[in-house]
Amino acid sequence: MQQLKYFQHYPDSLQAQVKTLITDEKLQPYFKSKYPSGHQLQNQQALYQYCTALKQRYLKNTPRLNNVSFNKHTDMMKGTLGTHTHKQHRHGQKLKTRYDIALNNQLKYAPEAILRALIVHELAHFKHADHDKAFYNLCCNMEPDYHQLELDLRLFVVLDELGMNFYTQI
Ligand SMILES: [Zn+2]
Repeated sequence: MQQLKYFQHYPDSLQAQVKTLITDEKLQPYFKSKYPSGHQLQNQQALYQYCTALKQRYLKNTPRLNNVSFNKHTDMMKGTLGTHTHKQHRHGQKLKTRYDIALNNQLKYAPEAILRALIVHELAHFKHADHDKAFYNLCCNMEPDYHQLELDLRLFVVLDELGMNFYTQI
């Protein structure tokens, strides 16, 4: 089952549970009961404000967020659902840094908690480049349920890939 590629670093027991969820067609019911509706962040400005609010609360004293958008296309083989970039540009005498976040366009129609987990992930990279302990500590500080939500994020991608994303009907 090719969808299991997204769960390779999880324990075997969990991979077996994921497999059952998919083969027994329980994936959609799982999402319907746990996350009945999708997020409302359908325009660029709402999305930007949402990210900025999170950033200001947890990552003070970091450069301004320049742009956030749903314009990344799936590259799940590399395991990335979002990208974060920073550019330096000269503004008068000062060298300024600007941050951009691009989110996978599959997340345009998704539960809010799952979108939040991805945003938290990308924001945490502004402080920590690698997926190390400090990185995950920061993620969990921003979102206490981070680990469960990251798993649900992977399950959501499977749901979407299998053509069962019902959040598109908003
Ligand atoms: Zn990452």
